[in-house]
Amino acid sequence: SNSTDAIPVALLPGDGIGPEISAAVTEIVDAAGAGIEWIPCAAGERVFRGGDPTGLPAATIDTIRRCGVALKAPLATPLGGGERSANVRLRETFETFAAIRPAAVLPGLEGHARFPGVDLVLIRENLEDLYLGLEYGLDRGVSVALKANSQTNTRRICQAAFAVAQALGRRRVTGISKSNILKVTDGGFDRIFDEEAARWKGIEADRILVDAAACRLVTRPESFDVIVTSNLYGDILSDLTAGLVGGLGVCASINLGREVALFEAVHGTAPDIAGRNLANPTALLRAAVLLLDHVGRFAAARRIERALALVLREGSALTSDLAANGAGVSTSDFTRTVIAAMSRVS
Ligand code: NAD
Repeated sequence: SNSTDAIPVALLPGDGIGPEISAAVTEIVDAAGAGIEWIPCAAGERVFRGGDPTGLPAATIDTIRRCGVALKAPLATPLGGGERSANVRLRETFETFAAIRPAAVLPGLEGHARFPGVDLVLIRENLEDLYLGLEYGLDRGVSVALKANSQTNTRRICQAAFAVAQALGRRRVTGISKSNILKVTDGGFDRIFDEEAARWKGIEADRILVDAAACRLVTRPESFDVIVTSNLYGDILSDLTAGLVGGLGVCASINLGREVALFEAVHGTAPDIAGRNLANPTALLRAAVLLLDHVGRFAAARRIERALALVLREGSALTSDLAANGAGVSTSDFTRTVIAAMSRVS
């Protein structure tokens, strides 16, 4: 297709601060001349309240499938009640088997980061492991949870890790498990990781136990390049790596399935500040930049990246989560400042 044709992208405005940060991000992306046609899709709270217990209407699923790419703001998980989260349903519907989480210090935020040299990508298995929810109480006060790891999923996340490393020109992939204790499940991860590693000649591979990885992530995080691990270890370690580079407010994630890629911020709906024009749209904007690279709109992606770096470095228009002494600007002022900065960087 012609590169000037608008690219359709499903937009899930989300709950809580979702609508505010979605509006900010689409405004910035449009101002960058990215040529995206946003197709708004209902999901989450409003859908639950409308009586649809899935939180995810068929029309939304169709649009995401048709577009193949979605920008997704955070969705609230209903507390209590029988509903399952729309997040989980999305993951299951599209079998998003891998979560890809880059953790690099954002240009302009070096002063905020404890480890300015960190630049890693963590890939987490996203469908199984201890997250199947198979828990049982047994007799005599014992409870069990089943950890299930299929060869199929393990192989495809290991393949995804090496493919990501190759695509990004990275040198090394590190596999993380606890195979000294879990000899069958995590031992299987190690075996498949080693098999895949042998097939990617140009990329170095090594393995490390999850406990040692936790220590090295806080002592020498810049020594990691691409990391691949199973669901639970990845859940914990990816919050840790987000913390290394400035927190949940600036980190993005790609949920990758066979037919779709969903781009999102790693933070939630921030109910404590929702509707008050205070939220920081940076994490969702980082997600949008990754999305633009994914669909080949590289010039717009770089333009946004440079404008964001300028605004963060100048530091006079930061939202309160980043501003010194908490005296921040509003979401809409931050957005206006980033858009104005684009004319200074291109
Ligand atoms: P949260 O990430 O929403 O909030 C944690 C803290 O960080 C809050 O103090 C919040 O104000 C702050 N924060 C988060 N994002 C911010 C931003 N962009 N700008 C400024 N401050 C920000 O985590 P939570 O409170 O545990 O979860 C709230 C809801 O979000 C829950 O319903 C949870 O299920 C949902 N959630 C959704 C997703 C998702 O859709 N991917 C992810 C995590 C949590």
